[in-house]
Amino acid sequence: MNSDIELALAKDELVFYYQPKISLTSGKVSGAEALIRWIQADGTVKLPNSFIPAAEASGFIKDISLVMCKNLMADLVIIQDLLPEFVMSFNLTAQDFESTALVNCVLDNIANYQLNPKFLQVELTETSLIKGTESVRENVQRLVDAGVSLAMDDFGTGYASIDTLSQWPFSVVKIDQGLIKRMLTSGKSTTIVEASICMAHQLGAKVVAEGVESSQLYEFLLRTGCTDAQGFWLGKPMPLSDLIPFLELDQRWSGMPIGLIHMAQLDHIHWRRSLVAQAMSAAFVAPETTAVIAVTAELNPKKCKLGEWYYGHGQRFRGHAVFDALEKPHQELHEIAQQLVEAVQNEPDREKITTLLRQLTQKSGEVLAILQELENEAILEHGGFIESSFENFATQN
Ligand code: C2E
Ligand code: MG
Ligand code: MG
Repeated sequence: MNSDIELALAKDELVFYYQPKISLTSGKVSGAEALIRWIQADGTVKLPNSFIPAAEASGFIKDISLVMCKNLMADLVIIQDLLPEFVMSFNLTAQDFESTALVNCVLDNIANYQLNPKFLQVELTETSLIKGTESVRENVQRLVDAGVSLAMDDFGTGYASIDTLSQWPFSVVKIDQGLIKRMLTSGKSTTIVEASICMAHQLGAKVVAEGVESSQLYEFLLRTGCTDAQGFWLGKPMPLSDLIPFLELDQRWSGMPIGLIHMAQLDHIHWRRSLVAQAMSAAFVAPETTAVIAVTAELNPKKCKLGEWYYGHGQRFRGHAVFDALEKPHQELHEIAQQLVEAVQNEPDREKITTLLRQLTQKSGEVLAILQELENEAILEHGGFIESSFENFATQN
């Protein structure tokens, strides 16, 4: 088997097919995953599961990865001429990081082709990393430090996904297709997926759902806070010669990321809770201590997680009265927060602090009420129950 693969690699019979990924915030193609195929002399297309495990067992996978990595970069240059923001992800294993060869190859090619590393993403499974040695860790880190992102593949299938997630520099989580598919029929799977998305979101990671095989699943995912989707319903893995016309079609899938409005509410509650806890403990629990409390809650309204959403993905709703109405109270809320922190740190005056805490809670209620209204309108409009100005947003963006 291995000599066959070696021959196949030498004869350029190993090629990448590309499966598009769709952004749930824009409804447009955001990138693709490169998936290896063995095109045999008679035209038969062999899937990776029939030859990659053997290549991994023999170690030949490292040679495959080195050759394929160069091919991938050349293809990415062609694709980015059409779509400059296109993110390409590819699959590697821990073995590829045992020496510096692969990382050097990626970095050399980035330099040769003058690519921006932020458009490259490496997918690694937990199973592969669990055996990772210190040199694997160092080489993975080198790639991440260079600006290449790291995605945890098949999240939810391993036995310590959360532990692995916390120990490696992942910025993307790909939820396993088995979990995604079970979501429509199993309440437990839905809860696991929703909790995973929430956790990834809290860690600042993007979430890609794999195995989206129906419009029903896609619609469901829009409500969960997932950021991207991949699956046969959106596009099957295809050779570069098919991907280019696919991208030229400039298709739009529905992109009403209701789930992200919900996430913004959770983010806000989380922000308020940590700020209030810090202020309370500094002002009331240990008022005699002179130590200045460490404020971890973000005070800049553009940098808290709600602000990041508002001035980032949320901008797709700009012009909608409910969305626009959020900016002022949110800014006022941060002004109160600033005053609260100053009061706690400079002049622990209980009365003043209590007043500011009340104002903060009240303003927070206003912010949450607006977000809730926005979510309700989006759900109703997306469900087709009412005609609203949201329709313009779905088509404009
Ligand atoms: P993966 O990285 O999790 O890739 C996703 C797999 O799910 C792909 O299978 C893809 O074709 C399939 N898939 C995507 N959407 C759907 C869907 O809606 N329904 C169903 N039923 N399947 C879907 P593929 O291409 O056969 O690859 C299998 C695995 O082989 C990959 O899983 C990856 O672990 C590995 N692999 C693929 N290419 C490479 C490579 O270049 N290097 C290495 N080391 N491993 C690779
Ligand atoms: Mg993958
Ligand atoms: Mg996967």
